[in-house]
Amino acid sequence: MQWAVPVVIVGAGPVGMILARELARVSQVLILEAGGVETEPENDALLTGECSGLPYPITETRARQFGGSSGLWAGYCAQFDAHDFAVRDWVPLSGWPFGIGAIEQYYDRVAELLNLDTPDFDARDIARRSGVALPFDNEVVIPTVWRFGTPTQRFGESLRSEFEASSNITTLTNACVADIRIDADHSGATELVIRTLSGREGRVSAELFILACGGIETPRLLLNADSQVCHGLGNSSGMVGRCFMEHPHRRITPLLIEDRDLLESWTGRTIYDGDKLFTFCIGLSRQAQESARVMNARAHIYRTPQMTKDETPRVGLFMEQSPNPKSRVRLSNSTDLLGMRRVRLDWHLNDLDWKTYERTASLIATEFERVGAGRMRAPIEQSVHGHEPVLYSNHHLGTTRMAKDRDSGVVDRDCRVHDLSNLYVIGGSIFPTVSWANPTFTLMALTFRLADHLKSEICLTSR
Ligand SMILES: Cc1cc2nc3c(=O)[nH]c(=O)nc-3n(C[C@H](O)[C@H](O)[C@H](O)COP(=O)(O)OP(=O)(O)OC[C@H]3O[C@@H](n4cnc5c(N)ncnc54)[C@H](O)[C@@H]3O)c2cc1C
Repeated sequence: MQWAVPVVIVGAGPVGMILARELARVSQVLILEAGGVETEPENDALLTGECSGLPYPITETRARQFGGSSGLWAGYCAQFDAHDFAVRDWVPLSGWPFGIGAIEQYYDRVAELLNLDTPDFDARDIARRSGVALPFDNEVVIPTVWRFGTPTQRFGESLRSEFEASSNITTLTNACVADIRIDADHSGATELVIRTLSGREGRVSAELFILACGGIETPRLLLNADSQVCHGLGNSSGMVGRCFMEHPHRRITPLLIEDRDLLESWTGRTIYDGDKLFTFCIGLSRQAQESARVMNARAHIYRTPQMTKDETPRVGLFMEQSPNPKSRVRLSNSTDLLGMRRVRLDWHLNDLDWKTYERTASLIATEFERVGAGRMRAPIEQSVHGHEPVLYSNHHLGTTRMAKDRDSGVVDRDCRVHDLSNLYVIGGSIFPTVSWANPTFTLMALTFRLADHLKSEICLTSR
């Protein structure tokens, strides 16, 4: 089977689907999805890999199906802070090539697609409209919200009929891209090699190639594409797969909640304006992060699914992990049924990450004590190396990071792979740093930004 198309997108998760819809306004688009319309055990088996470093369930934290991981996601929506984009002199490799202004213009469209109605994340305003008390309010800490769309957006279900009816989008499911071929002078991609579990192989040639495979499969595909270039595509400086970041979550074990009435409305989801859902969290102000020289983070008040409503909730910290080249995705020696080498994930936290936990937890605990909401029963230092596990948040970020040059990243400010003229990557893997915020809202805004860039490229070349 041989296809020739102007634009091909690899991966039909939220990002690939939004991009396909946008580019279909100006071009024919082929979208290739490794999974089926529904999840299937044979496809999921292709996701298994090896782990070293912190324990990590590689298979369970993503979905191989039309709609990608939006078939599984929990729907927590949050926005990056403006300073998340800045260079922080205490954070190696920090700084985006642009500021928040480059993506804010897309927030309305993202909010609408995520069933949030508006991109309304003003915690003080939401507190006023919902009648929830915001006791923490000084220069050290800032309240923030997570919002939840109603209903939770599942792209594979909600956009399926639109994709089936589209005359400009062709979707192939159960079509895994196993290799990317490039031209003789290694300056551009020419062809994708597709394989299916039924043993068929096909080729797709295109003018524009966009990878939207998620933060583990995108580096896996680039690293597997090493038949013409040693060590894989876009990897001349060895950055593909490096700086794997999560949002580590850890309970602040010694912090006990004393005033349950005050904080009960902070636990679980609350309604405002009739049908909008949110929950509060609390972080350090920009100034406090700067003077403590820590990453961004948010504390939230929660009960685990196993806890009853009578039990006092806990306080946990979601943290921004720092970019660390030793925390990485690479290839293992074993191959899957399609002939692709499987992944080996080395997830590591470094001293800055542990300092972020210790200093942020300590400053937030002090604020809890000041307003009478909680009490520390032991110094935080004692819990840093205690038995409380570090949990993951199902976010795979940073593995094809955006940077000005190829020595410190894989894609440029337009999401184009540094070494190749027509190969682009989009998704959480391009984040140079990851904020405290769950990534989907921001990666969708980045997708709209890329769509605008590619639409103007397509219109220019077709003139
Ligand atoms: C359990 C869970 C809970 C989550 N909760 C939240 C949350 O509350 N808030 C939040 O912001 N985020 C959450 N996330 C993360 C969120 O789902 C992702 O940010 C989002 O789905 C990323 O979209 P994407 O399109 O970049 O990648 P994905 O959704 O991973 O989609 C990538 C697609 O590419 C396909 N693909 C991969 N390799 C190939 C290949 N070689 N050839 C062809 N196709 C390929 C995959 O099958 C997949 O369909 C959660 C994730 C999980 C798993």
